[in-house]
Amino acid sequence: MSERLQKVMAHAGVASRRKAEKLISEGHVKVNGHVITELGTKVTDNDEVKVDEVPISREVPVYYLLYKPRGVITAVTDNKNRQTVVDLLSDVTERIYPVGRLDYDTSGLLLLTNDGELDNHLTHPKYEVDKTYVAKVKGIVTNDDMKQLRTGVRIDGRKTAGAKASVIRTNQNSSIVSLTIHEGRNHQVKKMFLALGHPVEKLSRQSYGFLNLKGLQPGEYRKLKPHEVEELK
Ligand code: URA
Repeated sequence: MSERLQKVMAHAGVASRRKAEKLISEGHVKVNGHVITELGTKVTDNDEVKVDEVPISREVPVYYLLYKPRGVITAVTDNKNRQTVVDLLSDVTERIYPVGRLDYDTSGLLLLTNDGELDNHLTHPKYEVDKTYVAKVKGIVTNDDMKQLRTGVRIDGRKTAGAKASVIRTNQNSSIVSLTIHEGRNHQVKKMFLALGHPVEKLSRQSYGFLNLKGLQPGEYRKLKPHEVEELK
């Protein structure tokens, strides 16, 4: 199958399609040893593509949904030899990596792919994928806390967008809260609750856009169906 050069580059995670076009026009890209500056150029799986002399990956794109357990690091490799999410997908031979990040002690839905274009797309703030978390937090959340979650909470000197928030239940000295956010700031959920005086004790991501964990146990994974991949794009 032949595809446009900029699409193949974007898939390989080299750059967005627009940036790939710029790289092509500026003469950074070689196909089978020849500099190509024509944007309409199509390449097949057998063509060798190099950007600034570095060959790009021509793997078939693959997409997985993992139920990440707690105690696993969201990375491809770890210099402290801890188990990574990629280690869990042991029978996958493609060079996959996680889309976004869940903390070491957070469980839940994590996508993994080798499609750099989809990764860029999903992690770009402008696409605003809804992510729903269930958090067990210290203390009893009040109506005022819920109002603040819904209007935005100041973390790291900047207010978050308003979240969808509902209390699932309260125990003696803790609360279980469902929180849906579309931003992806660092440790966002933990920081939002901490700002309200309710440190998170346990966190799990239940859904990512229209995807959920149905049918999976912690540590299990499945391939995304073609229509799910299309819907994410
Ligand atoms: N927010 C957090 O604080 N941690 C996560 O792992 C995900 C979202």
